[in-house]
Amino acid sequence: MEVQANQTSVAVIRNNWTIDEVNGLFNLPFNDLLFKAQTVHRQHFNPNEVQVSTLLSIKTGACPEDCKYCSQSARYSTDIEKEKLMEVEKVLEAAQIAKSQGSTRFCMGAGWRNPKDRDMPHIVKMVQGVRDLGLETCMTLGMLNSDQAETLKEAGLDYYNHNLDTSKEHYNQIITTRTFQDRLDTLTNVRDAGMKVCSGGIVGLGEQASDRAGLLMQLANLPKQPDSVPINMLVKIEGTPLGDVDDLDPFEFVRCIAVARIMMPKSHVRLSAGREAMNEQMQALCFMAGANSIFYGCKLLTTANPEADADMQLFAKLGINTERGRAQTEEEQYQQQQSLQTAIVNQENADLFYDATQA
Ligand code: SF4
Repeated sequence: MEVQANQTSVAVIRNNWTIDEVNGLFNLPFNDLLFKAQTVHRQHFNPNEVQVSTLLSIKTGACPEDCKYCSQSARYSTDIEKEKLMEVEKVLEAAQIAKSQGSTRFCMGAGWRNPKDRDMPHIVKMVQGVRDLGLETCMTLGMLNSDQAETLKEAGLDYYNHNLDTSKEHYNQIITTRTFQDRLDTLTNVRDAGMKVCSGGIVGLGEQASDRAGLLMQLANLPKQPDSVPINMLVKIEGTPLGDVDDLDPFEFVRCIAVARIMMPKSHVRLSAGREAMNEQMQALCFMAGANSIFYGCKLLTTANPEADADMQLFAKLGINTERGRAQTEEEQYQQQQSLQTAIVNQENADLFYDATQA
């Protein structure tokens, strides 16, 4: 079946992509690829709306896994500060601030191999509390068994993030402490429990072009395509094995966004880690290619965060609005837009935020 690229036909959701087809998309002339992606995008989304999430690390560092890009792995010598599981009240405080600054989804990440049973009651309280604030809830806690997935679903968790990271073929070069199949099993448990799946990957890990195609093929061919697809550009961390890997050509990153948009027409494609290093023009190209979700102010409360204002200025320049979240009235959305545009860094809470996009 052919993906349609004209203005009148509607893109079909397919779960049977072949690697040759995906490579074919990557090899299109750049302008043709972007036109195709933008056409598909407009069939399913308002092209001038971007969904905004905030991410909080609820437990940082000392992770036993060996993901070769990650500052939180206990196996590498990085300057990350290890923290215990955050208190529920602090999490809710951060969620309230995120809401007042325009986020509609609050993502909570823990650097774990998997949650332990003793942690689950605290996790459940966090989900319930954030949900009560009217925010969509998302968590990324590592591998989940089916009982844990059910518990989180019952608590009201909307999304669970678990990335495939890279292609099946390249996977063993990046992680050896859990298998690619382990990741697929967690996604199955999340899906079977009835939660929405957030799953994507990282590019710039020293992989081949065929691995980027393979990653997107795996995601698109899942039994149900993920609701959110974060595409991360590697942030090189000194002390990790990938600390000095070669840079990926930025156009290759834009191509990944465009191909993800074409293959997963109804998913939110999220411009994730690595966005801070992209200039405005590059980010605008990514929105053009079909990205329609970002993390906003991930480090909002740890630094003076000029990026927060820069995001709003870029949105204003491009005429982009934020997408309305669950339980938001038009008035609330309007107020959040205003808040976003006047977001002021609150340095009193300087220890609350940390970028945990890759947990
Ligand atoms: S990416 Fe997640 S699982 Fe891997 S080392 Fe980092 S925190 Fe641990």
